[in-house]
Amino acid sequence: MGAQEPIGKVYLIGAGPGDPELLTVKAARLITSADVVLHDSLVGREILRLAQPSAEVIDVGKRAGKKLLTQDEINSLLVAHAKRRALVVRLKGGDPAVFGRAAEEIAALRSAGIACELVPGVTAALGAAAAAGISLTDRRFASQVLFTTFSRQEGNAIDWAGLSPATTLALYMPGPDYAEVATRLVENAMPEELPCVIVSNIGRREQQIRWSTIGALAKEEKLPAPALMIVGHVASRATQLAESLWPLLRSTRGRPPDARSISVI
Ligand code: SAH
Repeated sequence: MGAQEPIGKVYLIGAGPGDPELLTVKAARLITSADVVLHDSLVGREILRLAQPSAEVIDVGKRAGKKLLTQDEINSLLVAHAKRRALVVRLKGGDPAVFGRAAEEIAALRSAGIACELVPGVTAALGAAAAAGISLTDRRFASQVLFTTFSRQEGNAIDWAGLSPATTLALYMPGPDYAEVATRLVENAMPEELPCVIVSNIGRREQQIRWSTIGALAKEEKLPAPALMIVGHVASRATQLAESLWPLLRSTRGRPPDARSISVI
């Protein structure tokens, strides 16, 4: 094999929203055995610490709105590392295939003849729902979930005609302009009284949760990025699964319920 023949394999791994305990066992194992880890800035230090001291750990993410590297540069870097190291980990926040540019990186690796594999992670929408204690598909209110964004960079416009009052929207990259988000939702026939919840810094110490409605959104204090907005009837405090039951259970049993005790009730 010539020096420029690929020797490595690239794993595109989802690091989840932040809490290292939300990594999959496979993700943790691969990060621990990696020769090189190329990560986005959304990936927290606690997770990066799993890499061996001998591993090269490279931040290819964005900082303060300024891109450190273009997507093409990241693609070339992945190819270059896979040509000289055996186990290359490309680590992304959440799931690598949800607003994660995984398709571009996989295409670049394939055309260079480099083996790659996706390892899924907990995407921010699921992390947000768990943090808020709601179910995205609570069958009393919702029959479908749309993972989407208004961010122009991500391209495709939302198919509003495909939505119904029973749709839960998981809005990635909502940005700081809540008034603009509210306007776009109202323009597309979402009622002002429809609940929404914003979860910032899911799974990290700085996590914040703000309950609101589309009508009240414009006046809400902005939460720091990264933040995700869930819009729909499920996104109401009244629908919270666990926490609403805790006071009752605390008074009878003295501790929060586990999943089984909730289903018994
Ligand atoms: N691949 C990621 C999404 C990357 S796009 C995933 O599957 O989650 C970046 C957007 O994801 C952010 O603007 C925010 O909307 C959301 N996001 C990612 N991590 C987050 C976190 N820890 N807390 C809140 N939102 C997060």
